[in-house]
Amino acid sequence: MLRLILLFFLFFLFFTLLNLYLFTRKRPRNLRQSDAAKPEEMVLDPQCQSYLPKSEAMLRGDQYFCSEQCARLYLAGRSSN
Ligand SMILES: [Zn+2]
Repeated sequence: MLRLILLFFLFFLFFTLLNLYLFTRKRPRNLRQSDAAKPEEMVLDPQCQSYLPKSEAMLRGDQYFCSEQCARLYLAGRSSN
């Protein structure tokens, strides 16, 4: 009787590990799918502290801005320092 329980336990352990293995194998694929489904990367305007979609942002140097005015103000403030 004890051997039967042990055998049952080993089968349970085996299937648990198998499920865990299949689950961890599937996860990276799901992560990549969710990344592709992401609508747009958001960037921070350091001048007015607002987030906006990267496609609508203006790149000046290594910073993104919501408008030309923000870029000018930010760069002017940084260079005067
Ligand atoms: Zn701005």
